[in-house]
Amino acid sequence: LISKEGVNVSNPAAPSLGFDSGGNFTRSQELHQVPGSKGTSITRTTTSTAAPRTPGHAGIGTHRVLAMDITLAPRDPQAPGQFGHPVAVPDDKQEEAKSRWKEGNFNVFLSDLIPVDRAIADTRPAGCLEQQVHDDLPTTTIIMCFVDEVWSTLLRSVHSVLSRSPPHLLQELILVDDFSTKDYLKEKLDAYMSQFPKVKVLHLRERHGLIRARLAGAQMATGTVLTFLDSHVECNVGWLEPLLERVRLHRARVACPVIEVISDKDMSYMTVDNFQRGIFTWPMNFGWKQIPQEVIEKNKLKETDIIRCPVMAGGLFSVEKKYFFELGTYDSGLDVWGGENMELSFKVWMCGGEIEIVPCSRVGHIFRNDNPYSFPKDRVRTVERNLARVAEVWLDGYKELFYGHAYHLLQRRAELGDLSQQKALRERLRCRSFRWYLENVYPDLAAPLVKAGGLLVNVATARCIAAQNTSLALQACDVNNKAQHFNYTWLRLLRHGELCVVPMGAAPGLRPCGGWESDLAWRHSSMAARPELAEHLVVQHQHPPTCLLVHPVLLALRLGACSATNRYQQW
Ligand code: UDP
Ligand code: MN
Repeated sequence: LISKEGVNVSNPAAPSLGFDSGGNFTRSQELHQVPGSKGTSITRTTTSTAAPRTPGHAGIGTHRVLAMDITLAPRDPQAPGQFGHPVAVPDDKQEEAKSRWKEGNFNVFLSDLIPVDRAIADTRPAGCLEQQVHDDLPTTTIIMCFVDEVWSTLLRSVHSVLSRSPPHLLQELILVDDFSTKDYLKEKLDAYMSQFPKVKVLHLRERHGLIRARLAGAQMATGTVLTFLDSHVECNVGWLEPLLERVRLHRARVACPVIEVISDKDMSYMTVDNFQRGIFTWPMNFGWKQIPQEVIEKNKLKETDIIRCPVMAGGLFSVEKKYFFELGTYDSGLDVWGGENMELSFKVWMCGGEIEIVPCSRVGHIFRNDNPYSFPKDRVRTVERNLARVAEVWLDGYKELFYGHAYHLLQRRAELGDLSQQKALRERLRCRSFRWYLENVYPDLAAPLVKAGGLLVNVATARCIAAQNTSLALQACDVNNKAQHFNYTWLRLLRHGELCVVPMGAAPGLRPCGGWESDLAWRHSSMAARPELAEHLVVQHQHPPTCLLVHPVLLALRLGACSATNRYQQW
């Protein structure tokens, strides 16, 4: 999950939506509203464990979401942090609070101060109370992986699941201990959890990393649906049924709750703006994007409407177990943390499924600025390697855009490991192309296959480069002359059809572009490591730098030592 910085946070569920290629939203046909469901009064504090059947229905009945909760009658209403209110560190505890911050990269002192079963405000949009879910929802196994999680925070996560999930739907809660080093996460944790028959603790014998730890939990699961959660969350009232309903209606679907914010500083529970989609920007950075107000108005979107997402945040979601395994779960070649949300998102969409945010399901999460656990290898390198694996398997020709925005990764392709199984899986599942995904799922992403195209104009002479069979010439510029048209690609090639401009001794020439291994790249513009060479075309792999230039007297193309102010070298 990325930080929710930049997302508006304030202290205060349906048809399915997605962008169509015209930027309009489309609604799916499925509706939550079921006829004959009017009239019953809503009891938000019901503790009934059996799913009530709606009388008078043939076949499967429906009911309003069960408000399983302790919220309205907390054990200790005066306790700090109760109802999700902010808590202040007392003056004489400032030092202690500061020193404990690094245990979890959030205010651990305050986490210990507030009840493990505190109440939080019911932040669901009003319409959620009217919605119906089926009586025969599937059961779920909740999988919560952790490594060195803060004790009180882990307990609060578990209690929020146990006290706000209808027992008949909670098959089990599996805590996957990813080889934590803290002593309290061993016998003490086992002893504490033994009072809850549905909670199982799986201690991994070596560090698996989040991705493989989740898979270890999934293998053990006996519920129909898998629900993954982080270990520093608070599930809100009625969170589970809307997720299971969406999966029940359509099995090839990943249902995500709205992720709300538990403040890392004062532990308050804050709701977030509605109408946010999970998206990514190049080179595959996850982010949130608000649906524009005019789109909301034009399409009369309601706060309870399901939101289809190009990608999911990754930490919290429900997916049918059998479907998840049919999809080949995660690429188990992904290490530790990062990029797995991209992998699953592309796989789900391109292989026939869909990803949604369900506004009537809300779960708080502590967003932190840094991971509090160690990475077996360098953190940045691990995430970059994961993302490059995803790009290689799923992005088709668009992976050039990924590499164009993370050019240094081109040199590290040898580290990616074996991709043949992942590629074979994509074949076997007969998944669609990335182009299909862009056009149908994420049409608002700018994804030009070529970075720039047109004439290569020399600044000093105002003359243009032209292709003449397999050599190059300098001519008077003419936009209508196809021979003068070149593309500058994300891989930094100067392409003319299948031919590339390359250094050939003292002058440039043309050669078939070949594959990815080519050393035919040119730096230009903002890509230049030396900004003073911004307008120059510098041969990528030569030291000292070699530039494309026009001989001032001969008016012919040459290669030579780069000189910052020389306009004969500017293009
Ligand atoms: N996690 C894990 N093993 C790892 C890394 C992470 O079990 O090697 C757990 C972690 O404790 C957390 C979840 O995976 O419950 C997601 O990690 P984190 O919260 O750091 O990710 P973020 O929410 O910051 O994206
Ligand atoms: Mn997290």
